[in-house]
Amino acid sequence: MREDKNTVLIVEDQEINRMLLQNMIHNTYSVLEAANGKEALEILEEKSEEIVAILLDIVMPVMDGFEFLKRIQKSDWDGIPVIAMTGDSSWSTEEKTLELGAWDFIVKPYKEQVLMTRLRNAIARSKMNYLKQMKHMAEHDYVTGLYNRLCFFRSTEEMLREYASREFVFIRIDIKRFRLINSYWGEKGGDKVLCFIADTLRSVAPNYPCYSYGRIESDIFGLCIPYERNNCKVLIDLLVGKIRSYSERFILEPSFGIYLIEDNLMPAETMFIFATMANKKVKNQYQGNVGIYDEKLGRQIMREQDIYNDMGPALQNEEFVLFFQPKYDCETQRPYGAEALVRWEHPQKGMLSPAIFIPVFEKNGFVEKLDYYVWEKACQHLRRWIDEGNEPAPISVNMSRIDCSNSGLPERLSKLVEKYGIPPELLHLELTESAYMDNPAFINNMIMELRRRGFYIMIDDFGSGYSSLNTLKDIQVDYLKLDMKFLFSESDDDKSKKILTAVVTMAQSLHLKIVAEGVETKEQFEFLRSIHCDYIQGYYFCRPVPSAEYEKIAIEAKK
Ligand code: C2E
Ligand code: CA
Ligand code: CA
Repeated sequence: MREDKNTVLIVEDQEINRMLLQNMIHNTYSVLEAANGKEALEILEEKSEEIVAILLDIVMPVMDGFEFLKRIQKSDWDGIPVIAMTGDSSWSTEEKTLELGAWDFIVKPYKEQVLMTRLRNAIARSKMNYLKQMKHMAEHDYVTGLYNRLCFFRSTEEMLREYASREFVFIRIDIKRFRLINSYWGEKGGDKVLCFIADTLRSVAPNYPCYSYGRIESDIFGLCIPYERNNCKVLIDLLVGKIRSYSERFILEPSFGIYLIEDNLMPAETMFIFATMANKKVKNQYQGNVGIYDEKLGRQIMREQDIYNDMGPALQNEEFVLFFQPKYDCETQRPYGAEALVRWEHPQKGMLSPAIFIPVFEKNGFVEKLDYYVWEKACQHLRRWIDEGNEPAPISVNMSRIDCSNSGLPERLSKLVEKYGIPPELLHLELTESAYMDNPAFINNMIMELRRRGFYIMIDDFGSGYSSLNTLKDIQVDYLKLDMKFLFSESDDDKSKKILTAVVTMAQSLHLKIVAEGVETKEQFEFLRSIHCDYIQGYYFCRPVPSAEYEKIAIEAKK
């Protein structure tokens, strides 16, 4: 900013006048002098940063004041206030200088008071302008001149609070395949499209009693208007028509995400997320271009957000606990080992099922931390049972697909069981079939490595994927876990039984052991026994239970 050095440039051909002026102002300002417009331009070229005002004589040789004013009018220096000075007090001269951009006008002979006051005022005004400009730049998007993201969100929030009892919609607008537009018309052409959309918003928004709009990022715009039945449809038809009319050669296709705001106090950022979710529903469709946010979707997002916020502290506070679901030997019907299943004892929400939080953690990668925590807890339990003089049966733990993408996994697991002095064969690893299908070659290697280190591997949810039977011939594992949910359809019991029999027979010929899980009925159990399934896990025998309860079951089994 031009604040620290307040320099005034005096442009005046008469040396005596320059001295006079210099004398009047030098106590307050530093002074630079030029004898004509040309010299003044040269000085500006070098020192414009420090010049806060120009005192400009009009009648001068070489380059007069009018010419000088013309030159700086459209230059970078047009923000520097110019005060024109002349002996001629006629209307026309005054008018002409002001028209050419002079800020003020004084007539010779100079009066110190008048000069100082005008100078001070002009400088103050220019500083105000500068600040306004800075503010504008901070609040507006430089391509389109619309409010930028931050400012649009803020003005939306202010509007919603002001009209607290009114219903509003938040509309997210973007252009399909905008990247193509940039390569078709070039970046400048792309900017022109953005400006066109900005103008379109400027022209439609005032149809509403109150509104806010802005450019959120790249080709994404936002608009918030009061909601009335049908007005969204009318608005969108209007916007689609206008936007498509931009070019006949390359049709611009807008797409929309609409969120009907439920709570005028919510952050605009959240409204934008909802509108974006709505928009995603239409993103890959060729025809449709309007997505409307629905509540179920929203509740899910909110829940995921909560889970996301709470997960870190939850791990620290040991809110994750292990339940155990015993497996039973099909022949003897005695318990043998268990699967460790995690639960979240949430301080406010109570006991949460992994079906709610595991999929969220798989999305954000947190599942890796949680799984390791579960494995370690399982080892601690095993250690304690051994220390208490029992010979515990194996515990199986789940691995997510993300754990398996890390080639350091076998080493980590070996270190873990060593830490607790647990024989690796007591920790069975359940890997879901779909994770295997992600990258069979890589997973096969990892499985081989894990087995070499003494771990037993189970393919979980076998039969849920497409190519289960194909998988069988390539995969080197110890157990297959068949989920009755996938293999038993209510509709065709007979067919299910045939498939199940075929799978079990095949697994036996490959020396794989079979665990049937999700067994809920006596019929299922008896059928599984008849085809010589090895182990059974399911509500028919026992639900997942807390560790203390499982210990009782396991001890009872030994008697
Ligand atoms: P899963 O590994 O297939 O675990 C079996 C699920 O079926 C468990 O649900 C269990 O409670 C349930 N189940 C057991 N018997 C029956 C039955 O007879 N009928 C029915 N309908 N269900 C039965 P849960 O504990 O809610 O776990 C759900 C899923 O969450 C698990 O499916 C697993 O994929 C995941 N999960 C649980 N714990 C962990 C963990 O520590 N790490 C990872 N990565 N995933 C876990
Ligand atoms: Ca499992
Ligand atoms: Ca399973």
